[in-house]
Amino acid sequence: NSEKTHINVGTIGHVDHGKTTLTAAITKVLQKDGLAKFVSYDEIDKAPEEKARGITINAAHVGYTTKKRHYAHTDCPGHADFIKNMISGASQMDGAILVVAATDGQMPQTREHLLLAKQVGVQKIVVYVNKADLVDKEVLELVEIEVRELLDEFGFDSEKSPFVCGSALKALNGEDTEIGEKSIRKLLDVLDEYIPVPERDFMSPFMVPIDNMFLVPGRGTVVVGTIFRGIVKKNAVSELVGFDTKIKTSIGDLQVFKKSVPEAKAGENVGILLRNIKVKDIERGMLLCEMNSVKLSNRFTASVYFLSKSEGGRSKPITGKYIQQLFSKTWSIACRVDLDAGVEMIMPGEHGKVYLTLLCKMVMTPGQCFTIRENKITVATGIITETLPEVVITKNLGKLELSNA
Ligand code: GDP
Repeated sequence: NSEKTHINVGTIGHVDHGKTTLTAAITKVLQKDGLAKFVSYDEIDKAPEEKARGITINAAHVGYTTKKRHYAHTDCPGHADFIKNMISGASQMDGAILVVAATDGQMPQTREHLLLAKQVGVQKIVVYVNKADLVDKEVLELVEIEVRELLDEFGFDSEKSPFVCGSALKALNGEDTEIGEKSIRKLLDVLDEYIPVPERDFMSPFMVPIDNMFLVPGRGTVVVGTIFRGIVKKNAVSELVGFDTKIKTSIGDLQVFKKSVPEAKAGENVGILLRNIKVKDIERGMLLCEMNSVKLSNRFTASVYFLSKSEGGRSKPITGKYIQQLFSKTWSIACRVDLDAGVEMIMPGEHGKVYLTLLCKMVMTPGQCFTIRENKITVATGIITETLPEVVITKNLGKLELSNA
């Protein structure tokens, strides 16, 4: 049913806790109701490899429909695939299903996946406590308490996050019991209820990344872009921000599909006539923003994955003071990468937290993806986690004395 709302979800959690079994079980149960095509464990586990920005990711994309919605569900069979999938922004999840085996409770990858989910902006977590067939009730209760504490630690709503206990394996084997198929139906109900429909952000101050600019004879300077957030109104006092500059301007005219409109909202592609500004002062990648609503900075923290040599990445580790070109959206700027305090190197094929220093000030918002390239070859992919106060730089990034952390 194509009229149902579309939602992106995925399974996260420690290896062997039952993510793939659960994904297969969901499709099995929904097939009974005529709402999905059954996708077997083996089909998911052997999902064809896909290429995202020069990185190979093994991920299964499974689609199914509930009573209310259509879901696109991503399951990454391996831990490394999961990391790459999240950091490259390959599939942005509106919510995640955290699978925790009751036999183990929280494990290192449970924590790592929750941390990454938080960093890339996943808002809601639904927990499936799996392997309920192997433990008794008290253990299930203890695991729930432990995982609620963990959600709290990573900044998720530990009280409201729904918990479902069950056995993905029993459900997959067609057992119509509380912990079998019924647990899967319950999980789908809480997904429908708890994961909100992704909404365009109409409330925040407006922001329009500039895709193109022209001089229209007889009219003036016109910029074109898709409104990223907020509502743009005619005559709004605005500023054009990016590449070290902020230029004050205002909106003379606003067009959607070549017709003048008094306002346009997030998601709409607009042509904007700007007052008091010359085309030569505008660069692709600048942002048109509500006055004083954004901060330019040259310093950010990010999660970065360095491609392994077999993925076309570097052969040597990153050790800090690593200077290359950073690419995001439509622009690129020279950038210096420094490692987190106490970390000596990041090997190709590994990921970590880094500090980025750009040669000029830019606006980058948490969740924004980027790549780092050496001689046109992508060697890393990352996601911004925080904007830091700017640092004074000369034109030489290598000579900067920076203290991290
Ligand atoms: P993943 O690595 O998180 O995707 O985990 P898998 O789905 O591959 O499951 C790991 C192992 O746990 C497999 O051998 C499954 O058959 C088994 N398993 C999954 N769910 C259950 C369950 O509910 N009960 C039991 N006893 N075993 C399970």
